Formats: sequence, structure tokens, C-alpha cells
Amino acid sequence: MDTVIVGNGIIALATAFRLAKRSKPSDKIVIIGKKARPGSATLAAAAMLNSFAEIDEDSLKTEADFFHFELSHLATRMWPKFVFEYMDAGAGRLPEGCAKCEGSHGACYGLGTYVINNTAADSLDDVNFNAIVAALKECDEPFEEISPRSIPNYRPQERYRATRAIYIPNEGWLNPRLTVDALEAALSTFSCVQYVDAEVDRLVRKGALIDSVVLKDGTRMAADKFLLAPGATATDLLAASALDIDVQRVFYGVGVSIEIKSPDFPHTKVIRTPNRGLACGLYSVPFYISPKAPLDSILIGSSNLISPGPRDGGQLVSIQSLLLGAMEQINSNFYRASVTRVNVGWRPTTTDTYPLLGKTSIANLVIATGTKRDGFHLSPVLSEALASMLLNEKVDPSYELFRPERAPIRHLSREAAIDKAVRHFISASYQHGFVPSHNRLPDQIIQMHRDDLEKLHDKVGARDWGIPPEMIEMYRYGHIKN
Ligand SMILES: Cc1cc2nc3c(=O)[nH]c(=O)nc-3n(C[C@H](O)[C@H](O)[C@H](O)COP(=O)(O)OP(=O)(O)OC[C@H]3O[C@@H](n4cnc5c(N)ncnc54)[C@H](O)[C@@H]3O)c2cc1C
Repeated sequence: MDTVIVGNGIIALATAFRLAKRSKPSDKIVIIGKKARPGSATLAAAAMLNSFAEIDEDSLKTEADFFHFELSHLATRMWPKFVFEYMDAGAGRLPEGCAKCEGSHGACYGLGTYVINNTAADSLDDVNFNAIVAALKECDEPFEEISPRSIPNYRPQERYRATRAIYIPNEGWLNPRLTVDALEAALSTFSCVQYVDAEVDRLVRKGALIDSVVLKDGTRMAADKFLLAPGATATDLLAASALDIDVQRVFYGVGVSIEIKSPDFPHTKVIRTPNRGLACGLYSVPFYISPKAPLDSILIGSSNLISPGPRDGGQLVSIQSLLLGAMEQINSNFYRASVTRVNVGWRPTTTDTYPLLGKTSIANLVIATGTKRDGFHLSPVLSEALASMLLNEKVDPSYELFRPERAPIRHLSREAAIDKAVRHFISASYQHGFVPSHNRLPDQIIQMHRDDLEKLHDKVGARDWGIPPEMIEMYRYGHIKN
């Protein structure tokens, strides 16, 4: 069987690896994507392997949310084995650093996440922190309530200190760039795998099936099966292909992360806040580079700006608030760290904010995108399911919930959506330096947001459903049509 995979991010590579391990001598797997990976979310990721630490007050309320959490929890358990699988497969061809790696006992993969509950934003942090603790208890997941002062390398400014903290031992982190290198090394050991350093211009449909893809230089490549995993560009590619299938729009969740070098304050664990203000909060993550380099590189993340199209640079305000947040809320000594790289990646974010995963009404086309902020973590699980879908095997029927041609999931009522959006807007304002005045103005601002959101819901005809808070501006400016 010949399979073309459009895209070369973590979802594409992990799925190619699953397929390659099961391939027959006559099979061919072609991975198409520019080597430089423009806009890659994968390369900008932390990449935290967080499941419980990502929970917020609404995370486990609906069937789709619950299934998403199950996948994420399963991914936490699969990562240690997955790391060894691709390291074993790539043995002999791994990058120099990886060859000396101790696998899951150190190096570019490590376990341990501290979640802090501080007062830098607003009480949404408390609500989400409580939701994390409640879920850990309900699922009997190991965790410890600890004194924030005992967290290694945690030295916030006094006024931003955490009042509570927990340690989750099973949730870890990776260096995404080394992971991509190691996966590519593993894939290079399979003769059926071929890379094409190019961009796909469009997919070509002939009758009921996809026949081929056409590259930007006009080259046509035929195959039996196609996996569309190009991250945030999926909608542009589908539009250029005119395949006559109805797939909800995927937006560009432009995210910034910043690599710093902090020789005196190396990290060995993740330190993070709960999700807040329409994003995943503030975090600092060990960024292991090589066995020869000291453990002094750290990734600070991350921002999120939903955009209808690609944006190459990070916004000044994103960079400013991440650096300020890191110095104020994580370690005040970071003022003397040096910035080594600013990453900008496009989180593939769908109209309803749930992933698009599965077969389509075109029998040989599978789509995998929309993983938003946890696609790296989910990749060992999703890659198994996607390989099975491409091989026409059965998968968990709950994947139907994320069928690419579904109508957008609208589980939030109008009232709940407006409440949630107001809370997140206020949380975001506090993160960006809002200082309330000593009068009615703070309440008036809340009322102003509420009135504005009521009007927007009326304007787009959202009477018995609510706009996902992240998508407010996309509805406001007409980028989503009902
Ligand atoms: C700042 C930031 C921090 C994040 N932190 C985390 C985290 O801590 N944990 C976590 O699990 N997730 C995290 N994420 C989310 C995670 O990165 C994504 O969910 C995941 O990487 C998506 O993978 P992907 O393969 O679908 O897309 P991508 O990684 O974006 O890969 C798509 C690839 O396809 C290529 N491509 C695009 N169009 C075409 C085309 N027409 N032809 C050929 N190739 C094409 C692109 O150049 C790119 O290389 C973060 C994201 C960002 C931006």
C-alpha cells in the first residue's frame, strides 16, 4: 500500500512510525513537508506531557470532553514506552546527543510537574486549580500537596507568590526538537519511508477517491491512502483542493514560547499555573539540549492569539508578558538569564475547538488536525488510532465524536458561554497588568463585556448555543459563517 502523509509535524511523524513498524516490503510511506517546517506548532511546543494539569472547570462535563481526557490520560501512560520504541528503532542513527540518552531516566524526557496557585491573575486560577485537585483525587492519580516554597528553582517576587501547590509525578516534558530528530532517525531505518521537502498545493479527487497530491512545483504524487496532517493550514489546503466535503474551519492559534539560558537556576521539572485567560497559563519547562550541555536551558510559555491566517512573528505583548511573568511568577533571578530563541507556532484550532480526527466520506482520506494545545502529548495515542484507520481496522467508536465532517460541537449554552468568556477576558486583563480602580469601574467592565457578548450572540444567531470563548473574535469579524 502506498500512503502519502501531508505534513511533517508530530502527528504526521508518529503516525508514519506506527505505519512503518507494520509495513510490508511492498509498502511505501511518503511524508511531504518543508524541512524548515514553517509555522510548526510541534517545534514551538514546550512540550509538556500534561493531562490532569490541563484540566479546567469545564473539562469533564460532556462526552466529547471526557473522551478527550481519556485519550490524554492514556497518552501519559504510553509516553515512557513510546520514547523507548523510537529510540530503539533509531539506534545507530540517532543524533549524537540522543545516542547517549538514558531514555526515560533522564535526558530529553523527564517526569514531574508542579502546578502552582498564585494570585498574579484572578480567581479563575483558584477554580481551575481546585478542578485539577478534584480530578486527581477522583481518578486516584498520584499527586502531593506541597508547600510552594519547597519547589526547586521557584523564587517568585513576593507579591506573586503561590499560596498552594501540588506535585504530579507522572506528568513530564520533552525537548520537541530532539524528539522530532529522534523520530526522523527511527523512520530513516525503514526503507519504505521517503521524505519530500516540499509543500502540497492541493489534493486531487477522481470520482469517489483521492487520486494524488500536487506539490507547489506542479509535481503530482499518487497513492492508495492519504493522511492530511498539515496542522493549522488544513482549511487552506482543503479550499484549494475543492473536494466537495464539508469540514469546519481550522484557525491559526498563534503561540509564542521563549527559550532562555539560566546558568544559575537550572530546572529539572515543569512549573506551571493552571489554564487561564483563554490560554494554557504560564509555565517554565526544562529544555534539555545535549548530554554535553549543562541543564540550564528553559522554555517559557506560552501565548495564544487566534487568527484567520498565518502570522510569522510573535506579538510584542505576548513576548513581554511571558518574560515579565517568568521573572515575577517563577523566578525573579531570571532577570539575568539570556534569551536564546523565540518560537512562534500555529496551534491548529477548530471552530468548535475539538480536534478533527478520522476517516472522511472519501474512503481513502483520513484527516488529523485541530489538536490545539495538546497534540504533542496526544501523539502516541492518536498515531496508533490513525494508523489503524488508514489500515481499515476498527478503532474506539468514540473517535466518531471527532469525525472531521461533523457539525461543530455546540455543548455550551448561551448563558454558560457568556459567563465563561467574561471570566476568561477578566483573567486575561489581569495577566496583562489590569489594576482595578476603587469604585464601580471593575463591575462596569464586567457588565460591558456581558452586554457586548449578548449583542454578538444575537448578531450571529446564537440563541440556544454559545460561542466558544476562544472563537469570540472570529465570530465578531465574520470569519465563521453559520
Ligand atoms: C507555543 C506552543 C506551545 C505548545 N505546548 C504544548 C505542550 O506543552 N504540550 C502539547 O502536547 N502540545 C503543545 N502545543 C500544541 C502542539 O504543538 C500541537 O497540538 C501539535 O504540535 C500539532 O501537531 P501537528 O503535527 O498537527 O501540526 P504541526 O506541528 O503544525 O505540523 C504541521 C506541519 O505540516 C507542515 N505543512 C503545513 N502545510 C503544509 C502543506 N501544504 N504541505 C506540506 N506540509 C505542510 C507545516 O510546515 C508543519 O511542519 C503547543 C503549541 C504551541 C504553538
